[in-house]
Amino acid sequence: MLIPASKHALFLFRQLVRRNPYALQQARGLISRERMPSAQLRARQARLLRATLASAARLPRYAALPLPPAEADVFAWVRQHYPVISKPDLLAERAAYYPHGGQRRPWWPSGKTSGTSGSPLEVFRSIASVIWEEAFQIQFWSWAGFRPGHRQAVLRGDEVADIRQQRPPFWRWDRFGRQLFLSTRHLNQQNARAMLDQIGSCDVALLRAYPSSAYELARAAEQLNHPLRLRAVVTGSEPVYASQREQIERSFGCRVFDFYGMAERIAFAAQCEHGAYHVNPEYSWVEILDEQDQPTDDFGFVVGTTLHNHVMPLLRYRIADRARWVPGDCPCGRSYPRIELSSGKVEDQLYDLDNVAVSASIITFALKSLSNIKRTQVAQVGPGQWEVRVVPEAGFGMADEQRLLQNFRDSVSPRVDVAVRRMEQIPLQASGKFKWVAQEWSGAKAFR
Ligand SMILES: [Zn+2]
Repeated sequence: MLIPASKHALFLFRQLVRRNPYALQQARGLISRERMPSAQLRARQARLLRATLASAARLPRYAALPLPPAEADVFAWVRQHYPVISKPDLLAERAAYYPHGGQRRPWWPSGKTSGTSGSPLEVFRSIASVIWEEAFQIQFWSWAGFRPGHRQAVLRGDEVADIRQQRPPFWRWDRFGRQLFLSTRHLNQQNARAMLDQIGSCDVALLRAYPSSAYELARAAEQLNHPLRLRAVVTGSEPVYASQREQIERSFGCRVFDFYGMAERIAFAAQCEHGAYHVNPEYSWVEILDEQDQPTDDFGFVVGTTLHNHVMPLLRYRIADRARWVPGDCPCGRSYPRIELSSGKVEDQLYDLDNVAVSASIITFALKSLSNIKRTQVAQVGPGQWEVRVVPEAGFGMADEQRLLQNFRDSVSPRVDVAVRRMEQIPLQASGKFKWVAQEWSGAKAFR
């Protein structure tokens, strides 16, 4: 298979920066501490939190706040002196919350939120935090039976084949990371067999995928009676529904291990072999707070403080997701607290002109690098007909609209008719949840 040299270079670069010996060593450390007594993990978390506060003091917003004395309970101190913040604060006061006056230095990688609930947010990251991120993933994969040296298949939106390409290969082998990147955008009934065969021939242990993509592949595998079996499927980035989980587990003869995270990297929870979501206390400090920013044992907002990004620490950063603590110990023996998530995101399944399912996570690609947008909703209103509803901010103009449409053609699918509709407001569901991907075409029912 022919791969442009630039792709090899990218894979090599990723490998050097992320999955290097240092990340593997950190992962081994994380695994060795999982079952430590809770008090010891808490003490470790306190040390990481103190270091984070010290680096936050370099940001204008935190420069004047008092650092905790050595004898203070650092968690109580932060609760008392540091405010809860959220995305609008960072967007409105960039100079206060970003390092270097909000100008990214070339050696700081940047993470971007998807922009599904407003203007996308950029977060600067340290190289060290990117390596730590990989270590936390490797630790989690170990829960799913993955060991260094095992091969992976990846179905998570990586752009590995031109969106207009009609014939295989719809994948690229990353020899440095020992993983097969598959094109989520080319996953349909017609191409599924070639993809399944390719995964099989690469002797893959673990599939990492968006739940909706793993589900489509699993449905196709069952219909084709394909013999592919895996050790585990790791899902994330979208809610995984019970029906999707059942199909994936049945088709590939293995368990689904799901994780919860977000672009801001303020919390990471992952499923153990008992199905519980464990919040990783070495990743961040997580609080669950009510509407008044007070701790609650009921469902509340997830509020997190990063512990490894000393370039741009986020302190007590609240996101729209809701969760509650699960009391007691897990039979797996890990000392990490358990959490029950109540996803605020509701996503329907949309289809293109050929009635091929398009993953909600792929749709987020069209919403990246956009500005002047308060909120968006993508709805299917007819066969292959989608409407992008935009609640614009003052500066939103035709150029933004054109860029949005171009993003859909380049990053989502050339096989959809997309129209942009500007709106004052997008109504919530009766349940109070916001559905950012909505299926409103009555004909869609025929495909399930
Ligand atoms: Zn557990």
